[in-house]
Amino acid sequence: MNLNVFFPENLMIQSIENNEHKILICLKSESKFNPCPLCGMKSHRVHSTYLRKPLDASILNKPVQLRIQAKKFFCLNPNCKRQIFTERFTGFLNAYRRLTIRLEEVFLQLSLSMSAEALSRFLFKLGYKRSGDALLDLLRRIDSTEKDIKNQSLTHIGVDDFSFRRGVDFGTVICDLETHRPVEILASRSTQAFKEWLEKHPSVELVTRDRATTYTKAIHLTNPNIIQVADKWHFLKNLLTVVKETISSRFPKGWFIMPESSITKKTDPATDITITNVNSISSHESLSEKEQAKWTLILEIQKVYQQVGSIRQTARQLKLSRTTVAKYIQLSEPPKQIRKPRVNQFVPLYLTLA
Ligand SMILES: [Zn+2]
Repeated sequence: MNLNVFFPENLMIQSIENNEHKILICLKSESKFNPCPLCGMKSHRVHSTYLRKPLDASILNKPVQLRIQAKKFFCLNPNCKRQIFTERFTGFLNAYRRLTIRLEEVFLQLSLSMSAEALSRFLFKLGYKRSGDALLDLLRRIDSTEKDIKNQSLTHIGVDDFSFRRGVDFGTVICDLETHRPVEILASRSTQAFKEWLEKHPSVELVTRDRATTYTKAIHLTNPNIIQVADKWHFLKNLLTVVKETISSRFPKGWFIMPESSITKKTDPATDITITNVNSISSHESLSEKEQAKWTLILEIQKVYQQVGSIRQTARQLKLSRTTVAKYIQLSEPPKQIRKPRVNQFVPLYLTLA
């Protein structure tokens, strides 16, 4: 059987060696000309030859190593920036790659069904030495090529910020609203970062976003015709804020609504009068040291808030966020710490769910 049929027409097998650990196939390029990858002009002027040593799909459970004597050509286009280019083997072996495309595909399919480290160990048994990191790299490279193609046709997206490190580093996540899958993660949540992304994706027609102006600005600067929609979560949050503000505006300054659970009712048997008391909340013996410290802080916040009468000023005075102040001034008892049981990696998960 002529093995040449398994290789591109311009590659001719020179020799095949069956070594102890691999099969070595030496090939020689017989290309008469090749198109410049930059300008596309075909060139027949050979500059030199060079050796490529990619791995190929295994034969009879033995890994295959190729040794390809490839060519370099001069670009004949005087206006082209590339003077010399290496020969391309389209559909068989991509430039700068150390695996043939068919072997990359095998690795890719396997990597979708197991972890990179498990695949690395599996491939080692087949004679291919590939680290988990190298396999992840392959996966990312192929994934990003496919992602770039898919992202060019995005029309409906959702955008929101998230933190890489809580309260410190923030990024932006962009989701495709048709597939409900994230399509991009930006390293920042700035207007500029989202604007640059939008400029590269002119097909976008609709964006659901949060209430902050960061993303709105980017949309206005890039394409004001994009329809902006407040997402459901932020829409309900808007509604809740307005309801709270409306109710609060009906009470004197410094008053806030307390949860019913913090109020106890006692009936005096002598007078038959019901006495309503707010729970004594100055100290809680059952609290841990950390919880007690937190509760002291909450009481301090409430004290300052009652003095200054404004969330903004309380936050400024205590150097806290307004969200924290707004949350803590409503508490009438220490927040309950719900500790999640640690998942024991040696116990099957279903046994821990009972
Ligand atoms: Zn060229």
